[in-house]
Amino acid sequence: CGIVGVIGKKNTTEILIQGLEKLEYRGYDSAGIFVTGHDDQDHLVKSQGRIADLKEKIDGRVQGDIGIGHTRWATHGKPSETNAHPHTSNDGRFVLVHNGVIENFEEIRAHFINDDLLKGETDTEIAVQLVSYFVTQESMTVKEAFKKALTIIKGSYAFALVDKQNPDQIYVAKNKSPLLVGLGADFNVICSDAMAMIQETKHFVEIVDGELVTIWADKVEIEDEKGNLIRREPYEAQLDL
Ligand code: GLU
Repeated sequence: CGIVGVIGKKNTTEILIQGLEKLEYRGYDSAGIFVTGHDDQDHLVKSQGRIADLKEKIDGRVQGDIGIGHTRWATHGKPSETNAHPHTSNDGRFVLVHNGVIENFEEIRAHFINDDLLKGETDTEIAVQLVSYFVTQESMTVKEAFKKALTIIKGSYAFALVDKQNPDQIYVAKNKSPLLVGLGADFNVICSDAMAMIQETKHFVEIVDGELVTIWADKVEIEDEKGNLIRREPYEAQLDL
C-alpha cells in the first residue's frame, strides 16, 4: 500500500521507518524493510501488524546506506510475515517491494517459475522471481531483465528493486500506482506519497507510467519505453506539516 526508499544517507533505517509511519494513515496489515550497503550486511526485517511491531524487531545492527520499505494491504495471500514485503528472489540476489496488483501472475508463474522456489502466496513474489529468471536463465543485465519483466507483467504496480550484488542503485517503475523520486544533496529518496519524505526533501520528480528509473545517491536516470533518456525538472512540494 505504501513504498519508501533511500540511497546515500547514513540513517537509512530511521528514514524508512519514519516514512512508513507517515504512510500509516493509508491502512496496512504488515510492513517490512530491507537495508544494506557496500560494507554492511543485508538486513531484511518484516512483521505482520503495526509499524510499532516492526520497530521492535529492529536493532542497532540494521544499518546501511541503501534501503527500501513497504506497508502492505494484502490482495493475494493472507497477511503474514512471509507474505509481507520486501520479497527476495530465490537466489537471494534481488529484493523488491510492490504496490498494486499483478493481474496475470498465475500465467507468469505457470510459464516461468518453478513453484518450489516460492516462499509465500503473493502476486509480488512472481515479479522478483521473473527478474531473477531473466538474469540467470537469459544472461540479461539487471536493467534489461527488469524491463523485460515489465513488458510481461499486467496490472497496477509501483516497484522498487535492489540488486544486492550492486547495492548503489535502486530501480523503479510504475503503472497506475503512484511513485515519486525525491532529490537531496548527495542522496535521493523514493516514495508513493511526498508526505512520507517531506522531512528529507521538498524536491520531487514525477515518474510516468512505462518509464524505467535508476536512482543513485547522486543522480537519477529516467528512460522511456523506447530507451530514450528523459529530462524532467523537479517540482517543489507544498505540504502543510
Ligand atoms: N498485491 C500485493 C500483495 O498482496 C501488494 C499489495 C499492496 O499494494 O500493498 O502483496
